[in-house]
Amino acid sequence: MENLKLYLAGSWREGGGERFCSTFPADGSVNGWLRAASLEDVELAVEAGERAWRDPHWRSMPGHQRAAILHRAGDLIAARLEPLAELQTRDNGKPLAETRGLVASAAATAHYFAAACEVLEGELPPQRSREVMTFSTWEPIGVVAAITPWNSPIASEMQKVAPALAAGNAVMLKPAEATPLMALQLAAIFEEAGLPPGLFSVLPGKGSIVGDALVRHPLVKKISFTGGTRTGRALAHIAADRLIGTSLELGGKSPTIVLADADIEQAARGICYGIFSSAGQACIAGARLFVHRSVWRPLLDRLLQLTRGLRLGNPLQAGIHMGPLISPQHRQSVADYVALARREGGEILCGGEIPADPALAAGNWFQPTIITGLSNAAQVCQEEIFGPVLVAMPFDDEETLIAAANHSVYGLAAGIWTRDVTRALALAARLEAGTVWINTYKVFSVSTPFGGVKQSGLGREKGLQGLRAWMQQKSIYLATAPTINHWSD
Ligand code: NAD
Repeated sequence: MENLKLYLAGSWREGGGERFCSTFPADGSVNGWLRAASLEDVELAVEAGERAWRDPHWRSMPGHQRAAILHRAGDLIAARLEPLAELQTRDNGKPLAETRGLVASAAATAHYFAAACEVLEGELPPQRSREVMTFSTWEPIGVVAAITPWNSPIASEMQKVAPALAAGNAVMLKPAEATPLMALQLAAIFEEAGLPPGLFSVLPGKGSIVGDALVRHPLVKKISFTGGTRTGRALAHIAADRLIGTSLELGGKSPTIVLADADIEQAARGICYGIFSSAGQACIAGARLFVHRSVWRPLLDRLLQLTRGLRLGNPLQAGIHMGPLISPQHRQSVADYVALARREGGEILCGGEIPADPALAAGNWFQPTIITGLSNAAQVCQEEIFGPVLVAMPFDDEETLIAAANHSVYGLAAGIWTRDVTRALALAARLEAGTVWINTYKVFSVSTPFGGVKQSGLGREKGLQGLRAWMQQKSIYLATAPTINHWSD
């Protein structure tokens, strides 16, 4: 089978690294072969990026013209929603209904940052002197590295690429090894949208080789990373040594809280979606459930009913709730966590196994699993499983609840289900999380900043801050009166 080409330094070429393939996690069939980027490819791409962002044509391009390129890219993505969603499903196994949402979100992200770069304003602070005027402008950083995981490629990649280009940088994108296809599609779309060559390169391959070379390259001036906390910490060390900026979107173990007055139907449905959509392979998955003891039984009963009704199957078919996990190795890691939960004394209320259905035998499915009988101190409550596994725990009073919910190294998201908005807001203020959803879960807006606290990350993506994160400020002092400095008299 022919190798897919990489897009780097403004042209399509075969990578110089090892040959690998993208597979469909539902049956292991090959979506495409490609060669990883080699160290020479990284060098070529970064140097081309450096030339391209310094090119006066790009540097002096007014914001509204950069915006036009992004708008065209957004339009092209929206026009190809179906084929892109299908390719994304083949690449990582998420059901089509979800990947359609990811593609739509990528298009919206392109349009949002296009609009933002048209209206981005500098700053004119209150003047401190009649003789000197000061103002600040925002400038691009230069060549920047964007490194992404496999769970939501097109959306997480656009979340970095669109603002980075809107800000005037050159972007080197290193997609996850398992899911290179959407990044290459984005390259084709930006090329068609008229982005000058060299400003966007896609460098697939292993993190330890291609990613490492990228983040250590002297011309790379910022690292924006989404992925696991361990990798993020290692990259933060490299960035600290090099004194360059990092933005880190890392792991999570998010608590979902059901108060005594919650609408049980609404809560059960939201919780079911919050943990089991994407087969739990979501950084923001609501993996720890705290339920007020007074509603424990009705809430659990309804949640179990909904969970047992989830349809596992080919993610390309309509009506499927859960596709397979990304790889056999990842499924084994999820199964190991369920075995650990059993050893820790947990009771498996539903799921907990690889499904016996022969129609699912060729893929990496794991049953949606609900566990009780554990405390928040259990290892399965403290570590990110990144699979369809929910641990449910009752609580009696709010102080114990808050202590348990916050007892985690992570702080990405949290959910609250209650009819009492005042109480929800007070609770939200005390939860250590970058995002709190009240009576909803796992919904996103590109204009709203996203990121984690504690070991869930540093910095924010999306929103106007998400654009400024890709820029640096320059302050100008301008003499407004013909004064002479007499210091040297
Ligand atoms: P990962 O950390 O293994 O890999 C992420 C990316 O980093 C991949 O592209 C990988 O190749 C690259 N990489 C790995 N080692 C590297 C190195 N030494 N130098 C440079 N790059 C390197 O994560 P994963 O398994 O792909 O993704 C799952 C993780 O991502 C979970 O922990 C999940 O919570 C997290 N995640 C976080 C968010 C968020 O927004 N906070 C979103 C999605 C996923």
